[in-house]
Amino acid sequence: MQLYNTLSAKERAALLEEAGQDRLTLSFYQYAKIGNPELFRNHLFIKWNELQVLGRIYVANEGINAQLSLPANQFEAFKEFLDGIYFLEDVRLNIAIEHDLKSFLKLKVKVRNKIVADGLNDETFDVRNKGIHVDAEAFNALIEDPNTVLVDMRNHYESEIGHFKNAVTPDVDTFRDSLDIIEEQLKDHKEEKKLVMYCTGGIRCEKASAYYKHKGFKNVFQLEGGIIEYARQVENKGLDNKFIGKNFVFDHRRGERITDDVIAQCHQCGTACDNHTNCENEACHLLFIQCEECAKTMDNCCSTECQEIIKLPFEEQKALRAGTHNSNKIFKKGRSEKLKFKK
Ligand SMILES: [Zn+2]
Ligand SMILES: [Zn+2]
Repeated sequence: MQLYNTLSAKERAALLEEAGQDRLTLSFYQYAKIGNPELFRNHLFIKWNELQVLGRIYVANEGINAQLSLPANQFEAFKEFLDGIYFLEDVRLNIAIEHDLKSFLKLKVKVRNKIVADGLNDETFDVRNKGIHVDAEAFNALIEDPNTVLVDMRNHYESEIGHFKNAVTPDVDTFRDSLDIIEEQLKDHKEEKKLVMYCTGGIRCEKASAYYKHKGFKNVFQLEGGIIEYARQVENKGLDNKFIGKNFVFDHRRGERITDDVIAQCHQCGTACDNHTNCENEACHLLFIQCEECAKTMDNCCSTECQEIIKLPFEEQKALRAGTHNSNKIFKKGRSEKLKFKK
């Protein structure tokens, strides 16, 4: 069953049957020129609210990036609505493997400067000049090539719980940082090496591939639809699965299991674990990996300091937060000296 672009009526019916009364979790993005993002945003919100869509959607002059869930029985109406918008007709929908009634709790459609915070100055290169898109089968063949360098374009806390075998996984907090690191590592091989990249759903590689071509790389490839689509194709076509562990996702599930391998560890005790959580202390909210045992002994907190704070009366907590309310920006996402087992 193919669940993107060419979803036939029959395939859609099968999908809905499988889902029953459940909600489908899906994501898509499209780079397009949107003249009035505010107006477009309102249009989406009114219609999607009607269809009981929940999720996080970003709209900008450069396009749309959407992660959402909707009742399975509204899927036809949703698809029809998308097809009625010229730049979203037949857009590839990445449909999640695991469906979860609570993946999103609200519908938020926000106007932003960009659909992904990529830190790039788009004026300096042609974002339309992107790399060659490859499907799962072509990707598998490509990464066997000894002349290929496979790069994970995601951040450290994403690749930590799952990545492709033999991928370079830059230890970075932002997409922008990994672009420079990779360029530096490969600067003498721009002509002959095949640069193959992947991310969660493809959106980051779309820009990265254009950027690298602009920087002089001759052979640039990207995994079409990212890990989400790869996992689907591997399952549906019975292909060899080269991904290990979990695919980090940005809804409350935090990760979609692709294989049973647990490649990460609890940041507090070091036991094998790949479940992300946010520190219970609202003023901290640190994203980190915590096993069930530590969650119990630490009251879902990242540190004893945070554990003390959450025991205070609410008003006192609020008073403590005053002036340091940006503390979750001070801590880099997923990093803290308090976490003994964070690599
Ligand atoms: Zn633990
Ligand atoms: Zn904390």
